Formats: sequence, C-alpha cells, structure tokens
Amino acid sequence: MLITLTDDWRNHDILDDGKKIRLQPGVIGADANRYLAPFQRKIGPDPASINSCKIGGIAANNASGMCCGTAQNTYKTVDAMKVVFHDGTLLNTADHDSVDAFRQSHQVLLAGIQSLCADVQKNEALKQRIQHKYRLKNTTGYALNALVDFTDPIDVLIHLMVGSEGTLGFIAEITYNTVIEHPFKASALLVFNDIETLPTPSPPCPKPLCQPLK
Ligand SMILES: Cc1cc2nc3c(=O)[nH]c(=O)nc-3n(C[C@H](O)[C@H](O)[C@H](O)COP(=O)(O)OP(=O)(O)OC[C@H]3O[C@@H](n4cnc5c(N)ncnc54)[C@H](O)[C@@H]3O)c2cc1C
Repeated sequence: MLITLTDDWRNHDILDDGKKIRLQPGVIGADANRYLAPFQRKIGPDPASINSCKIGGIAANNASGMCCGTAQNTYKTVDAMKVVFHDGTLLNTADHDSVDAFRQSHQVLLAGIQSLCADVQKNEALKQRIQHKYRLKNTTGYALNALVDFTDPIDVLIHLMVGSEGTLGFIAEITYNTVIEHPFKASALLVFNDIETLPTPSPPCPKPLCQPLK
C-alpha cells in the first residue's frame, strides 16, 4: 500500500506550553521546530535532512543527528502514537478507551509480546547483548531494546514501531516530548600543539566565554 503524506497529513497541536507537540506524519521536521520556536523548544530528533524529511519518516527510521544522538531520538522522546495496523485496527495510545479496546481485541498479539519480553528478561546474556548493541546509535532492524526497556506490551509496541520503516503499521500521528532549544549557542574549534597541553578536566570557565553570545 502506498500512502502519500501530502497536505491532508500536516496538522499539528502544541500541548502543555510547547513541552509536547502532536504531529501528523506529513509535517516536515523543520516546520515542527518552527511551531515550537516561540516556546524555546524543539523536537528531539535532528537528522541533517530535517528541512525536507517528514515526521513519519523520522519516526519510522528513528532518525537522529549530531546533537540528539541516542538521548533525544524518537525512541527516547515519543509520548504517544496513533497507529493503523495491517488489519485496519487503529490504536491511539493517548486515548484510554482506544488502549482498553486494543487490549481486548489483540490479546494474543500482546501476550506474544509479553512472552518475548519475559524470554529476553530471563536470558541475561541476550539482555546484555541487546543493551550493548543499543548503547550507540543502532537503527538496523527493529528496536529490540524495547523488549528490555519496557514491560507493558503497549509501550513495547509503540517503541517497536519506532524504526520499523512501515513494516509493522502506519504511524498516523505522534506526540513528542519536546526538548529545550537554547537561545544562545556557539561552537568552537580549539587547536592544541599536542595532547599533553590539553586543559585538565573541568577548568573554571573563563568569564567572557560564559557570557551569552549576542
Ligand atoms: C541529505 C540527507 C541527510 C540525511 N541525514 C540524516 C541524519 O543526519 N540522520 C539520519 O538518521 N538520517 C538521515 N538521512 C536519512 C533520512 O533522510 C532520514 O532518516 C529521514 O528521517 C527520512 O524521512 P523521510 O521523510 O525522507 O522518510 P521516507 O524516506 O519517506 O520514509 C522512510 C521510511 O519510513 C517509512 N514511513 C514514512 N512515513 C511513515 C509512516 N507515517 N508510518 C510508517 N512508516 C512510515 C517509509 O515507508 C520508509 O520505509 C539523511 C538523508 C539525506 C538525503
């Protein structure tokens, strides 16, 4: 099935004074950040393609860039998700009724997920291997770390959706916990003659450098 995420998929809602944002999958990443700018917030994921890629692709790839790394990617900052599964079921994790109905209608699926989690949890070697593989950026295959990080199968499911590239269902909406967009930022390239002349850790920050850059 091919779904084109054009104008009908570009709605957004700012929630909780910008601490959260609800986005349809056709919103361009940079547009989400423009909506959040007045609140000095932004979405966590920051792929270099943010000016053209869309929220659906960002979430379905678990895309991340130079600043967010693994700390502020979609996996870490997703708050809720609306998903359409292959059987046509709609799950909205922000809606208790929808979650309750899904727990009833998809007991077998959820029991299967729970059993996978239990298998991983009791296999210490496998658990450690998964944790080791996901300590760095790892977007190859499904987010198996969800089986280690969560116990509620609904939580596991939405975190498995992250990075699943459309193979598990269609992300129809996603709510992100946003992150701070610092108003003053600077970067610098400092060159030292050799590694011995590097300053020791935590030197007091020279006053002028601590001033916000205008
Ligand atoms: C110049 C350039 C720079 C890039 N920089 C980075 C980077 O810094 N970091 C990084 O991680 N990646 C990067 N990428 C890769 C890619 O652009 C990103 O991962 C981006 O998030 C993909 O978004 P998109 O809108 O192009 O998605 P698409 O390519 O359209 O989709 C990506 C995948 O997600 C699926 N998908 C899309 N929408 C949904 C949905 N609603 N529900 C379910 N599945 C869906 C698609 O089927 C597809 O499998 C870069 C790419 C380019 C061209």
